[in-house]
Amino acid sequence: MLHIDGTEGEGGGQVLRTALALSVVTRTAIRIEGIRGKRKKPGMQRQHLTCVQAAATVSEAEVRGAGLDSQTLDFTPQSIRAGNYRFSIGTAGSATLVLQTILPALLSADAPSTAHITGGTHNPLAPPYDFVEKAFAPLLRRMGADVKLRILRHGFMPSGGGSLVAEVAPCKQFSALDLRQCGSKKPWRARVLLSKLPDEIGAKQLDHLLDRFEKRRLSFDATSLERVEADDAGNALLLELPHGDLCEVLCAYGERGTRAEQLADRVATEALILSSADVPVGPFLADQLLLPMALAGGGVFRTVEPTLHATTNARLIERFLPVAFTFAKDPQKQGAYFVTCEKRG
Ligand code: AMP
Repeated sequence: MLHIDGTEGEGGGQVLRTALALSVVTRTAIRIEGIRGKRKKPGMQRQHLTCVQAAATVSEAEVRGAGLDSQTLDFTPQSIRAGNYRFSIGTAGSATLVLQTILPALLSADAPSTAHITGGTHNPLAPPYDFVEKAFAPLLRRMGADVKLRILRHGFMPSGGGSLVAEVAPCKQFSALDLRQCGSKKPWRARVLLSKLPDEIGAKQLDHLLDRFEKRRLSFDATSLERVEADDAGNALLLELPHGDLCEVLCAYGERGTRAEQLADRVATEALILSSADVPVGPFLADQLLLPMALAGGGVFRTVEPTLHATTNARLIERFLPVAFTFAKDPQKQGAYFVTCEKRG
């Protein structure tokens, strides 16, 4: 049994999700202690519990310690089963993070699967659905995985009620990713999603974003205001940075007390950091590419300064798979880093 200290490094939910995903794929029994030990409210919340239940369902695992607020979990997977699965978080806990947990398992099953996940699709501190569909999934496809995604309903804080569907075909072998350069740059696109809130809120956010960029980067006709159906009021400002046949997706959420300028500034600043370092991969995408890269047994990409999420994830993946990650400054470009994954002896 592999023992994992959930308080290590970043000490949040990602440690649990990566450990579950790799426990299933490598059929390694794990014990995790101190789950989310560095969070204000440690232990498993609804989203994490759904991740455990989903991982257990697809791998027929024996589980001990799966309960709300639990900080210790024993998880012993058996075999991976393809299937038509439905998982419901019951809150606005992130549906995309539940998908992140079981996707590697479904990709290594021996038949196609469908996963229908209900919960939050757009919530802070988690990948927005649009990021998974437009930034992450195309990279998985480039690595040989056949993953199709659909959003059926948007889910915002606090009650969620959104749902997404993933159709996943088995992938015998991931190919190594080489993402050191951006493809040919295309104009940036900004989108505002609005549920149960007046259009003026979104229009202001787009106006401020247009003010921040020269025309060359973002023009008026590259912005859109989209009304979406959801249980709660919700507002997301998304900025898409397409290059070649890939895309980075940045996101900020509107909430009471946050001015349109602040929201626009947040995504604009992130975009300008990526653009001045001239990197194809942002900090969140970096974090999430590590696991598929390790399953491929190697790969390299260029990104901005690695976050504690990324380094924690890398060290954990190295405990399950015979790979080693290195994070090195790009000597040619201020603010850029190479992340390399190589097979270990
Ligand atoms: P944790 O905080 O440990 O629960 O992990 C949160 C996860 O959500 C990490 O995998 C982050 O990369 C991801 N994440 C958070 N914010 C975003 C974002 N704006 N876009 C994409 N991924 C995100």
